[in-house]
Amino acid sequence: MTHKIIEMDSAKKIALVAHDNMKDDLLEWAEYNKGTLARHRLFATGTTGSILAKELGLVITKLQSGPLGGDQQIGAKISEKEIDFLIFFWDPLAAQPHDPDVKALLRIAVVWNIPIAMNRTTADFLISSPLMNNEYDRKIVDFEEYKNRYVNLKS
Ligand code: PGA
Repeated sequence: MTHKIIEMDSAKKIALVAHDNMKDDLLEWAEYNKGTLARHRLFATGTTGSILAKELGLVITKLQSGPLGGDQQIGAKISEKEIDFLIFFWDPLAAQPHDPDVKALLRIAVVWNIPIAMNRTTADFLISSPLMNNEYDRKIVDFEEYKNRYVNLKS
């Protein structure tokens, strides 16, 4: 299997998402890390983004609300290399109407090998990494092989 490199800038393109029961947690975390976050390009699902922008004054590209397609928009942006970092505080104790979208987002984040924090501790470790402020060569599977695979058509 061959690989290729996607270059990540020192300014990362970070998506922030929190389920409703986790929004306080994300807000507190983002407030503590506001200075660092402000050095990166920020994206968020609709309600999460509105809260972070209103409470912290951060400049954030707001997408659709998660259950209305926001998670899928983030997934699409990851596959288009417009987002390269995911902070996603999902709720492990409440069923979500958009559970398939949550799963799809986490899957596509792994496909594209981007950093993912799904709880505060991981988010703390990631944001304090020296790699946050440096360029980084992200190694991914070279999907050309997959795209050029032989498909045995019946017709
Ligand atoms: P929200 O979406 O920020 O619009 O609440 C989050 C989610 O549930 O994915």
